[in-house]
Amino acid sequence: MAEFTMELNEEQKEVRDWLHGFAAEVIRPAAAEWDEREETPWPVIQEAAKVGIYSLDFYAQQYFDATGLGIPMVMEELFWGDAGIALSIVGTGLAAVGVLANGTEEQIGTWIPQMYGDVNDVKVAAFCSSEPDAGSDVASMRTRAVYDEAKDEWVINGTKTWATNGGIAGVHVVVAVVDPELGSKGHASFIVPPNTPGCSQGQKFKKHGIRASHTAEVILDNVRVPGSCLLGGKEKLDERLARARERAKQGGERVKNAAMATFEASRPAVGAMAVGTARAAYEVALEYARTREQFGRPIVDNQGVAFQLADMRTQIDAARLLVWRASWMAVNGKPFTAAEGSMSKLYASETAKQVTAQAIQILGGNGYTREYPVERMHRDAAIYTIFEGTSEIQRLVIARTLSGMPIR
Ligand SMILES: Cc1cc2nc3c(=O)[nH]c(=O)nc-3n(C[C@H](O)[C@H](O)[C@H](O)COP(=O)(O)OP(=O)(O)OC[C@H]3O[C@@H](n4cnc5c(N)ncnc54)[C@H](O)[C@@H]3O)c2cc1C
Repeated sequence: MAEFTMELNEEQKEVRDWLHGFAAEVIRPAAAEWDEREETPWPVIQEAAKVGIYSLDFYAQQYFDATGLGIPMVMEELFWGDAGIALSIVGTGLAAVGVLANGTEEQIGTWIPQMYGDVNDVKVAAFCSSEPDAGSDVASMRTRAVYDEAKDEWVINGTKTWATNGGIAGVHVVVAVVDPELGSKGHASFIVPPNTPGCSQGQKFKKHGIRASHTAEVILDNVRVPGSCLLGGKEKLDERLARARERAKQGGERVKNAAMATFEASRPAVGAMAVGTARAAYEVALEYARTREQFGRPIVDNQGVAFQLADMRTQIDAARLLVWRASWMAVNGKPFTAAEGSMSKLYASETAKQVTAQAIQILGGNGYTREYPVERMHRDAAIYTIFEGTSEIQRLVIARTLSGMPIR
């Protein structure tokens, strides 16, 4: 197990500086254009693929880094550049993690490379769990997967919503109900290969922020996938369902808590995205406050402005520390006895919303226009308190973990 450290090592600093260069030179200058276009920034993703930032190898290296600081560092730098474009770059990773966590070695080897495509023909992938009636309440999921034993195929029907890259993805990873009696333990994940008949894009959402990231419904109408597309395989699923049925008979609480633990481990990454956006807005505000003069002196010379900047920076640093701690715990298998993953996501996402709002205030009228980036950053920041579990759900998980109450 790696010791917890609050400093990046030399190799990580090099990677961070390289990512920062890409974020500053490629992502940031493209941000306003793709925000206005509300389209996936394919040329930027392609550029990221060319330099090695959009690749399975790169993320796997960071994901398995024992210090736990690899993924937070990547997220913070890319999202510092721009949240919408960065989500377009890392969105495929959400689907890839779904396969890495549940897939067999063969499934990982077959599908993850197809999710990324190659430098000359980049692809994106989508992870589809949320539904119109199952957002925070994942157990209400209705999309159904039924096994057709004669053909060794799964037949999937339902409507997914809010899927990042939904419909424009080659590979879709779809979570569906295989045993409705078992709540979230009766779910399984499936690969829906590119161009599978019956899988199509529904409504594409016009959003408040992260507009360079594509978000849409995914319709699954009698989608047939081979048995080999069930992540983890049928034998493992049957064993898992049998265990879940047994536990459900004994009360079920352990079952539900185990499901929540998976989310705990992925939440610090979202916290790190929020830290990136918050830091970006803070830096713009600090620079502006030092150079903008009113009443014959820089506005930072007023305590009312300077103290805001002091609070902004303090909150950003505190958020980063919570994110790094939770990420280190996740990589090293430390139990989240106080829901530290949720804590990091809650604090960092609320910080991003608050800091970006303060940045607008510090820039005054300019902050309110699209001539300056903080207006976009504030719109972008609003997503962090919503996806991967809303702030209310994070508080619920933390409170129930602390009090020993079951997480429903
Ligand atoms: C831009 C974007 C991208 C997304 N990307 C993906 C993706 O790639 N894949 C995917 O599967 N999903 C994705 N999501 C979905 C996202 O995870 C959900 O929107 C989120 O989980 C909230 O669900 P909901 O929108 O249905 O809100 P609801 O669950 O309906 O919540 C509405 C409000 O009620 C509150 N609330 C609900 N239950 C409780 C409770 N028990 N106690 C207190 N308050 C409560 C919530 O906190 C919230 O404020 C994305 C969403 C967006 C907006």
